[in-house]
Amino acid sequence: MASAFGGQRSIQLSYGCLICLYPETAGRCNRLLRGNAPVIARRLASGGLRTYQEQMTAKCVEQKLAILADAAKYDASCASSGTSRRDSTKGGIGSTEGSGICHAYAPDGRCISLLKILLTNFCIYDCAYCVNRVSSNVERARFSVDEVVTLTLEFYRRNYIEGLFLSSGIIRSPDHTMEEMVRIARTLRHDHGFKGYIHLKTIPDAAPELIEEAGHLADRVSINVELPTDAAVTRFAPEKKPAQIRRAMAGVRMKQEEARDRSHTGKRPGRFAPAGQSTQMIVGADGSNDATILTNATRLYSGYKLKRVYYSAFSPIPDATAALPLIRPPLAREHRLYQADWLLRFYGFQLDEITGAAEGGNLDLDIDPKLAWAIQHRGLFPLDVNTAPRDLLLRVPGFGTRTVKRILAARRNRMLRYDDLTRIGALMKKAKAFVTCRGWTPGGLTDSADLRARFAPPPEQLSLF
Ligand code: SF4
Repeated sequence: MASAFGGQRSIQLSYGCLICLYPETAGRCNRLLRGNAPVIARRLASGGLRTYQEQMTAKCVEQKLAILADAAKYDASCASSGTSRRDSTKGGIGSTEGSGICHAYAPDGRCISLLKILLTNFCIYDCAYCVNRVSSNVERARFSVDEVVTLTLEFYRRNYIEGLFLSSGIIRSPDHTMEEMVRIARTLRHDHGFKGYIHLKTIPDAAPELIEEAGHLADRVSINVELPTDAAVTRFAPEKKPAQIRRAMAGVRMKQEEARDRSHTGKRPGRFAPAGQSTQMIVGADGSNDATILTNATRLYSGYKLKRVYYSAFSPIPDATAALPLIRPPLAREHRLYQADWLLRFYGFQLDEITGAAEGGNLDLDIDPKLAWAIQHRGLFPLDVNTAPRDLLLRVPGFGTRTVKRILAARRNRMLRYDDLTRIGALMKKAKAFVTCRGWTPGGLTDSADLRARFAPPPEQLSLF
């Protein structure tokens, strides 16, 4: 063990190369040893580095589940509705802390519980922002194909879940990893007749035939663009190729379109990712501002017909490069990006309207982007709720798409009053400065100098310590 501190060569003499320790990282061991000798030496000294065989045989499915469900929490592509307040590990029942089962929303608004896991948190890539990167000092685990199939079926039979969200680090090669993921989906669908929801995170470098098969088996497929700009991807994820990611997304889009077309015989080809494709972008790891992030998201939505772009606030990770920030960006930033994304997709806003209201290219963290836009365009308000067209009503802060639908339906029968709007579900605390209706006019409120301050949280004295 002492010889391990002698450098790269003596580590190899004592333990063999990392191909023996971690077959999953085969072919990358030299780079791993070169770049991370101090980390490995520390792990050897603490006795924390055991052979792959030792690690894998020592772990039961429950332990693997704990590691691989926890590792999947960084994947934002299916949102959890958990909070961080209650945990029953020390007694009681139920928990909002644990990972493993998360909730996603179907296109019809239905909430679906998913078993959300990684096939493995081994990875041969070294993406600087990722806790599972090859040089990361985390405990590793790997499920077999049968273990994931059994877990999914058993959880499904017990009514814990309605589907599976499966992602993975890259083991041996992109094709090998994708093959295993596809094998899981194929076994579930064909051997066990599993009709539940499957979301597969696909690997852009994998063979197109494997991604195609994944699309035929899964309800949704996703390919992460990772970071908002190509330059950031090249810098922080050197093994990933932005052009290859886009090619893979374009391939999925083409297959989806083909699946909709009937052939000359009137037959449709098999279904292909009927719940669409999505992607994830990490926010706050590089210096991109919100305008850059939203511009990229808009291109992805229009170019590849994505169902969702997920924004994931960067989480600082242990032993990270100094180029990454030490603290995570405020969660409010992620939230504002989702709100802006919604405005672009469902409220008829154009990109420059949102980014134009963003000072220095970043969204206002204190107030939502629709309110920020409305305050900057007060000349358009107040709107008469009883006569304004739908596209303008959608721009009123506090009015959602459902509220506008109800307003349009209700005003066919009578003139709406303030109380009617409250009953319909409008957030009148926000909307009242921007609308008129029977019996209500905002008077000078719309143009008042302190309008923004009424909505923003009160300023706080920063602590010096
Ligand atoms: S390929 Fe995925 S799992 Fe592997 S280091 Fe990069 S982000 Fe992490």
